[in-house]
Parts: sequence; structure tokens; C-alpha cells
Amino acid sequence: MKVFEQTESEVRSYCRSWPTVFSRAQGSRIYDESGRGYLDFFAGAGSLNYGHNHPQLKLKLLGYLVNDEIVHALDAYTVAKREFLETFRRVVLEPRGLDYKVQFTGPTGTNSVEAALKLARKYTGRETVVSFTNAFHGMTLGSLSVTGNSMKRGGAGVPLNHVFTMPYDNYLDGATPDFMLFERMLTDNGSGLDKPAAVIVETVQGEGGLNEASAGWLRSLADLCKRHEMLLIVDDVQMGCGRTGPFFSFEDAGIVPDIVCLSKSLSGYGLPMAVTLMRPDLDVWEPGEHNGTFRGFNPAFVTATAALAFWEGEGLREQTLAKGEAVAGALDALADEHDKAITGRRGRGLAQGLAFTDPPAAGRVCAEAFERGLLMETSGPDGEVAKLLPPLTITDRELAEGLDIVRESVAAALE
Ligand code: PMP
Repeated sequence: MKVFEQTESEVRSYCRSWPTVFSRAQGSRIYDESGRGYLDFFAGAGSLNYGHNHPQLKLKLLGYLVNDEIVHALDAYTVAKREFLETFRRVVLEPRGLDYKVQFTGPTGTNSVEAALKLARKYTGRETVVSFTNAFHGMTLGSLSVTGNSMKRGGAGVPLNHVFTMPYDNYLDGATPDFMLFERMLTDNGSGLDKPAAVIVETVQGEGGLNEASAGWLRSLADLCKRHEMLLIVDDVQMGCGRTGPFFSFEDAGIVPDIVCLSKSLSGYGLPMAVTLMRPDLDVWEPGEHNGTFRGFNPAFVTATAALAFWEGEGLREQTLAKGEAVAGALDALADEHDKAITGRRGRGLAQGLAFTDPPAAGRVCAEAFERGLLMETSGPDGEVAKLLPPLTITDRELAEGLDIVRESVAAALE
């Protein structure tokens, strides 16, 4: 069986090409032009937490367009932007006791990360940024240089001179690395480590293999940042907006980052939108110092506002945690059944997967799933994790159907 062939018009670096052409989608299902439906456990790599073409969001968007409201006005303040900001404050920030300024940093996740890195360096007047093994923060040169994956960097080099990579939680075969060595290096002149501006971390590494940081490890990291006056940046581009249950993936760990990156599912509709949240006193930008043409894409603000209203009303946190338990149960059973081929279940909430001893087996699972009408992709440095990322709005029935397909696909892939 061929695994994800290239389609004709795409450059080679685009790795994810299912051998069909898709034409429409609704909720958790996507259809190809022959009318064949697939359950979407890929969900735009986490950018479709509310599924495809959510009816409430669609109505808001259509009404907005029909009324000739502002689609594009660069960075200008608009009604749509104001409504998003007010709703974000009321639904997300205030109930969590959080106080952040919101900067609209671009159409896509990497723009949010670039702004965070640049701001941290400007605010502290320092250059070094600490990042982690298997981290993924984006494909532009700053975010790429804090990405812990040599293959993704390709021949592009490491443009930030000062990046210090630390082992992520559980990197050492299940052992939790403590920060003793790092702290020593921070305080010892002989270590050669310049005092860092910031530490950037994902709570669950979406692209890096669904490795999960424990709450305790995150708290130690946050304490360390505080003690040494380094800014803590949480990249919640993939795990934020409810993917792991709570709106922010870090909130149950009891940490309060200085800067937070959000994008992917923020617009709720797959429309491009990214923000960088910062502690109010970190806002040291001069006017015009960090801007860009498409940072005010108003249709995305409209669907984002509608998505937050939906978030507020639907108890998505509890539903996601419950669905995550169902996924965990199914994946644990598979890991037990195939304990030689599967090293374990990874991730939490509705970002979970199975890690395979032989990495190509994970790719075969995805290919078998495609044949059976389900889209999913691999994750991890060697593509060793078969990753499930269904929309949070998936029905229990669809989830059960999808998990049945995963079960059959694992059995077929390991035959
Ligand atoms: N950070 C994380 C954690 C991500 O998962 C991604 C995308 N997979 C990015 C940043 C970059 O986002 P984008 O592809 O939208 O630039």
C-alpha cells in the first residue's frame, strides 16, 4: 500500500497528501469529490476544534459578509476586533483570573511565536532562548531555531545564535529530568551559558510525538524562570483552545506564563488568526515595531467571537475530558493487546496517540485508516506515533466509530 503519495502540484516538502481530492466537509466528516466520507481525526492539525463549517459560526460569518462589514483594514480597530477582545476577556481571561494584553500577531501560529521571542528579547535585553528536545514552534527562522528537530531545520541553519536546548520531561526514557544542571549553568560563569531571555515550552508536544509534561515539572520550570528572571512562554498553538480539555493547556498545572501563543483553533472555523498574549507590563513595543498586513483579518475575529460564545455555553471542557477518557481506554487496550509493537499511549484530552516500536508501523496504521474512511497522521521525530486529533465537537457515536477503525487499522498494520 502506498503511504501518502505526492499530488502533482505540490512541492516535495509537503508531506501530507492523502491519495484523493477533498471537496466538502461538515462537522467531523470530510468528503472527497467522489462523495466518499472520512471521519476527520486530523482536524487541520488541531485548527478545527469545532469541526468543519460549524453551523453557528457559519451563520455569523455569512451575516457579516452579506452586510459588507470590514473584511480587511490592516491593523485598524474595528467592531469585530472589539467584540472579539471583549468576549475573550469575559469568557477566557477573567474567569481564570488572568490579565494579559492581546497582540494580533498574524495569520498563523509561527507569527505568534516570532512575536513572543522578539518581545522577550527586547524586554529583557538578552538574546538566549531556552527550548526543549522535540519541541515544534513553527517554520519561520526564529520559531524554527527553537524547534528541537534537526530534520525540520533542513539546510536552513539556526538563525538565532543563542538557543539552548534542554531535555523535555520524560525525554530520558521515562525519567523526569530535574533542573539542577540547568540552574548550575545559569549561575556558573564557566558554563558559557548567557543568561536567557526566555524559556519556550509546549505542555504536550503536538508535533514532537505527544510527549506530555507533568504538572510538577511545569511548576518547577515556572519557579526556575521566576528565580532567574527568565520569561516563561507557553506555546499553546496546538494544545490551546480546549484541545486537552481546559481552554489553556497549562491552566490545570497551576502555572501562569508571562507570554502565551495561540492560533490554530482560535478562529474556530479554520480561518487564519494568531495572537500573542503578554503580561501587561511586557508591552514595550514602540508603535510600528511589530506589525504586518494580515494581522487584522476580521472574518476570523467574527468566527472567533462566535466560537468563544459556543465554548462558554456548551461545557466543552467536560465533554473533551470525557471523550479523552474514552480514547485513552481504547488506546490502552490496544497497547496491552500489541505490547511488543506498541510502546505506549501518549498525550491527553483529544490529542492522543499510540507510539510504535517500529516507526513505519505508525504510518501504516494511518494508511490503513484512510482505506477504512478515517484521516489521521503521524507525529514524533521518526513518525513513530499514530496521532488522533478529532474535533472536540465529535459525537460519542462518531468517536466510537473512529476508534473501531483505529483498532482495525492497528491490527491490519501489524499483520
Ligand atoms: N507551535 C505549535 C505548538 C504548533 O503545533 C505549530 C503548528 N503545528 C506551530 C507553532 C506553528 O503554527 P503554524 O503552522 O500555523 O505556523
